[in-house]
Amino acid sequence: MDLFEWQAKELFAKYGVPTTRQTLVSTPAEARAAAEQLGGPVMVKAQVKAGGRGKAGGVKYAATPADAEAHARAILGMEIKGLTVHTVLISEAADIGAEYYLSFLLDRGNRAYLAMCSAEGGMEIEQLAVEKPEALARVPIDPVAGVDEAKALEIADKGALPEAIRDQAVNVILKLWDVFTGEEATLVEVNPLVQTSDGVVLALDGKVTLDDNAAFRHADVHDAYRDNSATDPIEVRAKEKGLNYVKLDGEVGIIGNGAGLVMSTLDVVAYAGESLAPGGAGAVRPANFLDIGGGASAEVMANGLEIVLSDPAVRSVFVNVFGGITACDAVANGIVSALDLLAGRGEELTRPLVVRLDGNNAEEGRRILTEAAHPLVEQVDTMDGAARRAAELASA
Ligand code: GDP
Ligand code: MN
Repeated sequence: MDLFEWQAKELFAKYGVPTTRQTLVSTPAEARAAAEQLGGPVMVKAQVKAGGRGKAGGVKYAATPADAEAHARAILGMEIKGLTVHTVLISEAADIGAEYYLSFLLDRGNRAYLAMCSAEGGMEIEQLAVEKPEALARVPIDPVAGVDEAKALEIADKGALPEAIRDQAVNVILKLWDVFTGEEATLVEVNPLVQTSDGVVLALDGKVTLDDNAAFRHADVHDAYRDNSATDPIEVRAKEKGLNYVKLDGEVGIIGNGAGLVMSTLDVVAYAGESLAPGGAGAVRPANFLDIGGGASAEVMANGLEIVLSDPAVRSVFVNVFGGITACDAVANGIVSALDLLAGRGEELTRPLVVRLDGNNAEEGRRILTEAAHPLVEQVDTMDGAARRAAELASA
C-alpha cells in the first residue's frame, strides 16, 4: 500500500524523524484556519499518490492564512497525473538552505535492502539517476545486520552530505530505518530532506510503501491508512469479507478455488464468449476474478456468490472447482447450503449457475448436486464445456 505524504510524515513524527507540523484539510476555509493555527508561513500541498506535485502546481507557499485559503481553493479539485486532489496538507513552511535525498528500499534482485542518498535532492530522483548517477550513492544493506550508526555514517558520507550536519543526518537515517523496519515498509523516501537556513535537518516530503503481506502484523496502521475512495465498492466489500476478488467488466461471474485455476477460467470464458460472437462484437467476458481458496466452506461459498451476484452486470455464474484437500463432495454441499443461506438472507436468486466439479471425489460431488436439483444450477463436467455454457447463458 502506498501512503499519502501526510500519512508518511505522520509515521515519521511517530518515530522521531524531525519534520514539520501539519494539518490535513479538505476545504479552503479549513486551510485558512489550519494556517492560522500553525502560525507563520505554510505550504499548501496536494495530497495525491504521485510524485512531481510541485512541478504540476500542487505545492504552493503561503505567507498568510488568506494566501493558504486561496492556494487551497486553486489546488483542491485539480488533476495531477490523472488523480483528483480531494485533500490538501497545510504544513509549516521551512526556510530551505539546501535540499538532499534519502531513501531505503527493498532490493529484490540482490536479496538485500538498499539505501540511496544524495546531496542533490529536490529534483525527481529518476532524473538525477539518469543525468548525474555519480551524485546518487547506492549503499547495500545486509538485511540481517541492518543499519547501525557506522552504516548510517557510511550512507551520509557516500551521499556527500555536508560535514556540518553529519550528526543530524545520522540521527535521521537511523530513525528512518526504524520506520522502514518497524512498519515493514518496502520503500521509505524523503525528497527533499533539507537543511534549513539555521542549520536544522528536516524531512519535508515523504513517500512510504507498506508491505501488504505484512498487513496482518500492522492492522491498526493499514486499516487507518487504507484509502477506499479509488477502489470499486464491490472490491471493498469483498476485502472486508476476506475474499480475493477483482472486478472486471464482463458478464460472466467467476468463482474458483486457487488463483491459477481462476486465471485459466478467465481465459477459457473469454475464449468461449468470443467464439459465440462472430467477429467478436458483443462477446461476453468474465465479470470478475474470485479465488475462494482451498477450504471452500458453505459460508465462504455463500459470501463469494453474494459478492459476485452483487455486480448487476453479471448474467450467469461459472463455479469452477478442482477438488484437492477439500474434496468435491464438501464443495457440492457448500454450494447447496450457500444457496439456502443466500435465500435465507433474502437474496433474490435469478441468475443461473454453471458448476464444474473435478478432482478429489468429483463423482460424489456431482451426485450431491444432481440430487439437490436446484433449479438455477446446471452441471457440466468439463472446464471448456462449462465455460461455453456459462457464456451462452450470459449472451441469451
Ligand atoms: P513533490 O513535488 O510531489 O515531490 O512535492 P514536495 O513536497 O517534494 O515539494 C516540492 C518542492 O516544494 C520541494 O522540492 C521544495 O522545493 C518545495 N517545498 C516543499 N516544502 C517546502 C517548505 O517547507 N519550504 C519551502 N521553501 N519550499 C518547500
Ligand atoms: Mn518530493
